[in-house]
Amino acid sequence: MTNLNDQLELIPPYCPNLRCLFHFGTDENFYVKNGFAITNKAPFRNQRFKCTGCKIQFSSNTFGVDFRKRAANLTEKILHYSLNGMSNNSIARLLKVAEGTIRDRLKNMARQSVLFEKANYPSKIGEDIAYDGFETFTGSQFSPCYVNTAVGSHSMFIYHNTFSPLNRKGRMTFDQKIKNQELIKKYGLYPQSSVYEETIYVMRNLSNLAAGRTLYTDEHKSYIRAYKSFDCSMGLETINSKARRDSSNPLFPINRLHNLYRHFFSSQQRESISFQKHEAALMEKLQLMKIYRNFMNPKFVKKINMTHIRTNGPPPCMSGSQIKS
Ligand SMILES: [Zn+2]
Repeated sequence: MTNLNDQLELIPPYCPNLRCLFHFGTDENFYVKNGFAITNKAPFRNQRFKCTGCKIQFSSNTFGVDFRKRAANLTEKILHYSLNGMSNNSIARLLKVAEGTIRDRLKNMARQSVLFEKANYPSKIGEDIAYDGFETFTGSQFSPCYVNTAVGSHSMFIYHNTFSPLNRKGRMTFDQKIKNQELIKKYGLYPQSSVYEETIYVMRNLSNLAAGRTLYTDEHKSYIRAYKSFDCSMGLETINSKARRDSSNPLFPINRLHNLYRHFFSSQQRESISFQKHEAALMEKLQLMKIYRNFMNPKFVKKINMTHIRTNGPPPCMSGSQIKS
């Protein structure tokens, strides 16, 4: 609502009064315009409205993201900086606000974006889908997790990202092994079938929307087990994870997304100290990236410089010495 034109075009969706009959939305014309209020923050002039039912007054600000915020007009910057590799603390220092403000605004935006996504999610999917997990951790390296991501093969639309906790595995030093055992003794193990269960959830959802299409995954046992556990209307094709991951590989969209996670989130860079401190914050960040990639950004920002030779190989009439690229 920083722009006056946006305010003039605004049609109040409902009456903000909780006790009003028009609070839950209506097709009736329930308000009248009620002059302007002068404010000391941008846009300095606020269109005001009056409800014809309960007679309360409200303004275009009431429906804005900065309603009753002391530090107004920061949301866009916070989103941009946060999705371009800055940590919450450095954004706070740059914008001269508290770190808690940044955290709060990101949380707010992530929750609003869930509503937006629900209203704009495709009702039918007409493309194949690639599915794989992104391995990271929250809080400490002793609580790793998997983010199960489903991405459209052609559009690179992010259909799902769900969370699965993992138990720490792999190589550890002697001290780390002892600490791991202590933690398990104190808190117990994470559910060991979480990847399997989340995969069923995602596959069931996709199966309804993309019947008849193919789902590409790697050869993870949980994926195959999940696929066989119910009557899925999609085909499953597994790709060896050692196969070359260039744009001809059906799992390429997944790789690209995971690359973007590592590139654009300060929390997902290797050996970072700005790692996500808890699971909810991780999922909020991923939710924001989902909306940003799906609805605010083009598929590729730059034109891809791919010649015919690079994409399809040399035409059969050319000999090796003629290829110079
Ligand atoms: Zn009302």
